[in-house]
Order: sequence, then structure tokens, then C-alpha cells
Amino acid sequence: MISLISSIVVLFNLIGFPANVNTKQKALEVVIITGQNNHNWQATSAMVEQIFDSSDLFNATVIKTPAKGKNMSSFKPNFNKYDLICLDYNGDYWPEETQKNFVDYIKKGGGLVLFHASDNAFPKWEEFNRIIGIGGWGNRNEMNGPILYWDKHKIKKDKSIGRGGVHGRQGQYIVYNRAPDHPILKGLPLSWLHAKDELYHSLRGPAKDLTVLATAQQDKANGGSGRQEPVLMTIRYGKGRIFHTVMGHVGKNDEKVNAILCAGFVTTLLHGAEWAVTGNVTQDLSKNFPTKNNTSLWLK
Ligand code: ZN
Repeated sequence: MISLISSIVVLFNLIGFPANVNTKQKALEVVIITGQNNHNWQATSAMVEQIFDSSDLFNATVIKTPAKGKNMSSFKPNFNKYDLICLDYNGDYWPEETQKNFVDYIKKGGGLVLFHASDNAFPKWEEFNRIIGIGGWGNRNEMNGPILYWDKHKIKKDKSIGRGGVHGRQGQYIVYNRAPDHPILKGLPLSWLHAKDELYHSLRGPAKDLTVLATAQQDKANGGSGRQEPVLMTIRYGKGRIFHTVMGHVGKNDEKVNAILCAGFVTTLLHGAEWAVTGNVTQDLSKNFPTKNNTSLWLK
């Protein structure tokens, strides 16, 4: 009997099957780019690294830029080693060569995920603004493109003049799923309550090849726009896919990272990350998902 089992094991080893049965095979490599931000990047990057590493799909590596104001010329990561870039960065411009490598990487089909405050970065870098679709702050204005919002089941473009990027008072808000058939949102509820966060509005940009997946609204009395704002979106750039979530504010002195620990944030981040690499989503992370009335934090 033992020799029969050994023979089967040998056979399986020969066809390469059992070696993968009990070990988690991580298929996708993600690099988190961080090191400067007007938010607590140390906390958010560590959290996002943990989220990726806890998933069945991703291995995460963190690469930090030099500190603000320091010589940036040494910052030349080899993006091509990774399946996905996750951007947690809002700081000094990268060297020209690195900017070019970043653009080429996405153009050739590399995936990109970005969240809160990375869409504040590089206001004057034209291709970056095209890649992220819309952004705010850094003196962005009508020259960067129209303001995007959502009304009557459609994206609307507001071409009025003025600044790009505003946020009101922090609070919980309801996220409305506007693309329930998209792989990233398939199987998720039509609305859910997001943990306390900032809600951006009046984001501007070229918004080319951009699909709004989800929106949220904040009353004018609380500093909001009173309109449905894009909070989850995808952008196509060359052969590349980009997933952009505006959620995930963790202030410079905040210790709580609940905006990132929200199970809605984690699920859409991991779904969006997989979609950005493959165009599909195979993970089922709908367990413990927030409902319209209750927030829910990610269970590691
Ligand atoms: Zn913020």
C-alpha cells in the first residue's frame, strides 16, 4: 500500500501537480511605490502591503523614493519586474527616465492601481494625468480638463472654470455601485456604507477612456458638492488597465487606518488590482462586506 502511495506521489510529482496543492501559489507580483505624501504613507503602504500579501493572488514589494527635497536621480525602479504597480505617492517629480519607464510600462499592458492622494501627484505631468483620468490639487484647474460627476445614470462633464480638487468634512458615506456587471463589482451589493473617510469632489482631468464604477455624495452643508462624485473608476491607456479609487484617506498624524481597513475598500482594491493585471476577477471576497446601513472592517 505504502509503495502504491509513493508511486502515486512520484507520478504526481512527475506531472508537477502535488507540489502546488498545499502551498499558496502567488501568481502576481505587485510593487507599491511610496515614500512621500501629505498623508500617512508609512501607515497606508504597510497596510496595503499586508492586504496584498494576505490575498491568495499577490506578493507585494514596497519601494520608497528618496525623501522630499532630496536628490531624486537614484529613483529608477525596474517596473517591468512586476505585474502591477500600486501607487501610494504624492511628492516630488521622478527623474525623466523613470517617468518615461512608467508610461511605457502601462502603455505596453502593465497594470496600475492608485488610491487616495496619489491622484494629487504630478499636476504638470501630462501623461500621468491622462493615465489617472482625473485628479485634484497642485493648482489643477480648468486647463487640466472638466470636472467629472454623475447624474441620471451617466458621467457628466462640468466645464466651468475654477480649482480642481475639494473635500468636505470626514464621515461615513454610502457608495453606489454603478456598474454591477463589471468584473470588479460583480457580486457586490448595489450600495454599501464606507468607513469614515474624506470624499473628494471637483476632480478634473482629461477623463479619456474612463469608466465610472461607483459614486458617492456629500451634502453642501458638510463641504460636499451635493452631486454624485466618482469614487471608483477604470481607465484604459494603451494596452494598460488602471483602477483608481479616491478612497483611503489617512491623515499625516492619524493612527487609525479605517478608511483603508473598510472591507469595501479592501475588496474593491484587490478586485481592481486583479482586473488591472488580467482584465478579469477570480477572487471572491464578498464575505464580511458592508451593507447599506453598516460599515464592516476587513478580517485579515
Ligand atoms: Zn486626504
